[in-house]
Parts: sequence; structure tokens; C-alpha cells
Amino acid sequence: MQLETILAQLGVRKDQGTGSITMPIYQTATFAHPAPGQSTGFDYSRSGNPTRQVLEEAIAALEGGCRGFAFSSGMAALTAVFQIFKPGDRILVCDDLYGGTYRLFEQILRPLGLAFTYLDFSNTSEEDWENYAGQDVKAVFIETPTNPLMKIYPLSRLAQFCQRHQLLLLVDNTFMTPLRQRPLLLGADIVIHSASKYLGGHNDLIAGLVAVKDPELAERVYFYQNACGAILGPQDSWLLLRGLKTLAVRLERQEQNAAGIASYLNKHPRVRKVWYPGLSEYPGREWHFAQASGPGAMVSFEVESKELALEVLSKIRLISFAESLGGVESLLTYPETQTHADIPETERRNRGITDCLLRLSVGLEHLEDLLADLEQALGGEV
Ligand SMILES: *Cc1c(COP(=O)(O)O)cnc(C)c1O
Repeated sequence: MQLETILAQLGVRKDQGTGSITMPIYQTATFAHPAPGQSTGFDYSRSGNPTRQVLEEAIAALEGGCRGFAFSSGMAALTAVFQIFKPGDRILVCDDLYGGTYRLFEQILRPLGLAFTYLDFSNTSEEDWENYAGQDVKAVFIETPTNPLMKIYPLSRLAQFCQRHQLLLLVDNTFMTPLRQRPLLLGADIVIHSASKYLGGHNDLIAGLVAVKDPELAERVYFYQNACGAILGPQDSWLLLRGLKTLAVRLERQEQNAAGIASYLNKHPRVRKVWYPGLSEYPGREWHFAQASGPGAMVSFEVESKELALEVLSKIRLISFAESLGGVESLLTYPETQTHADIPETERRNRGITDCLLRLSVGLEHLEDLLADLEQALGGEV
């Protein structure tokens, strides 16, 4: 079945005893055993819960994995997945990425003995990558497009590189969702989502989802999910199922809006640069559309000065100045002090994140209202 159908039908008649159209919220910590040595399939809600299970099966189906896992946040999902590595293991990481992931790597996992090498896979050749494939290297971790600079990395080529060196390929697919990009089908081993973003889609929940390609690796991730325990509760599992049902229509309209905004910003005299894979001539556009079926609805742009960036943030009226992305409400983020504040300033500058950079998550409002808000906030002669 098509993904749109799977999404709309999530949870439908899964509760066989009642025929409930939506999956009920099994708000229970534990489950009675029918007899000694017997189980209903559920014993304790950290290990498994029926509402969460429907969600976990959903992300596995959507990403084309064998098994899925739901966590209390995207960061909890990443933390659990990275337990599969041991002290001394090195991971090659894309050089532009979500600031919280960088913080997890540098401030939590590095002191525990993992090593990270940051690489720009978009402007280095495959021969360059070969130089990094040392003995201790165990995996490659990427986002594509990246947060916030929308760099594009070639998934299939990275998968081939990983295969040659027996490395795992881990992909944070938050920006694209499985509707637009399915990394497991292109050779990745594990896909991670901050479901707080597009999958939940309503700025009303924090959650993380993981899909794993092969059963043995999935069993290891399950071990850490259960052993570390940062699972998603039944109420939030239900809310996320509810959000997911409309993902296809949301994303379509959000992309239409984003395309309109990107082309408006691209012509604006006070905007220096726009990062949006849907723009013609966008670097990496060819790679992007070889692996993804749409441009997404994230638009990053640089205005002419820091003062103007701050002015825009204070003047927007419809769009909210807030962290996060992917929801029905448009949000404008200032990576400098928000999502990427935990990357040291020199690192941030080296990576191209300036104090003039703004990141817009385009929502479901009418395009004309969004453009009018940006127009009054950007000011100047247009
Ligand atoms: C938000 C985000 C995360 C972290 O997810 P939370 O749900 O906020 O914990 C990870 N990766 C990306 C790309 C994100 O945008």
C-alpha cells in the first residue's frame, strides 16, 4: 500500500476485541499474566505497550525497516541508538547538524570514550572519504538536508562507502520524513527522527522514533530501549499516531508555501542568501532529488546584517519566534542563540552559521499572510 494509505489507517481496528477505529490509549504500567510462565505479549509498559507498539510498527512500515522504536524525545532516541557503540569507536559525522546532537556527541559521548570526526560529505570526494575509513571507524552519521544549512549528502554513495568498509550508516531523517526520503531503502541501517517535528506536526508533543533495517541490529536497539528506559508514554504515543495520519496533506501544503517563500526571499534586496533545495541552481539539488521526492518545508536565509536579523525576530507578528519546526504553525528560529548555541562560536562560524542566519519552518497558514508578515518584518524598499 502507498504511504498515504498507511498513514491514514494508522491504528484502525488494531484493537481487535472492540473494533475501535482509533488505537485506544493503554494507560497501564503493567499487565497480568494468564498463568505462571505465560504472557499476553505485554508484561510491563517500559518493555512494551500496545499503544506504543502500533506506533513502533508504523515507523517501521513507513521507513521500510524490520522494526521500530518510540522514545520520549529525539535526543532520547539518539542516545539509545548510540549505546550500540563502545569506547574507542569512531563515528564520521556530517559537519552541519542539529546543535543538540552535536552537544550529545561532544559533551556526553566523547567523555565516555566515543570519537567523532566531522566531515563535509557534500564537497569532499569519495577518495577523501577513504582516507577517513580507519580501523576504529564504525559508522557514519548524517542528516540530509542538514540543520540549518540544508547541505545535501549523497545517500546511496555513502551507503556504498559504508558497505565497502563494513560501517553502519545512521541517518537523522527529521527534515524529510519517510514520505519524502526513505534512507533504509537506499542502504542506511538505522533511521532516527525527532517526531516532535513533522511526524507529530502540531507543535504539541516531544517524541523520538527509530526504524532499523535488520533484525539483529534491531534487537540490540531494543535491548537499550528497554534497559535505559526512555520510552514514549501511551498518551503521547496516541497523540503522535493522531498527528501522523495527516502527514501527507500537511507536508504537501507546507512545501507549496515554502517554495513561495523561498522564491520571495531569494529576490528580496535585504536577503543575502537562501538555502532551499527547491530553488533552481541549488547546490546538491541533483543529489537531493535523486534520493528525495520533495524539497521539504524548511527555508534558511541570511539577511544583510545582525541588526536586521534581530529586527525581523522582533517584528514578526503571525510567524512565531520559537525553537522547533515541522508543525502547522510557522516558526522562525535564530540558530545563533537557539538550536545551535551549544556549538562553540568559532566552530559555528567555520561551519557557516552566522549571526545573520534565520531558519524558517513553514506551516499551514495561507501563503499570502506569511509573505505579508515577512514583508513588514524585513522592511526596507522592496
Ligand atoms: C529537534 C531535532 C532533534 C532532537 O529532537 P527532540 O525531539 O527535540 O529531542 C534531532 N535532530 C534534528 C534534525 C532535530 O531537528
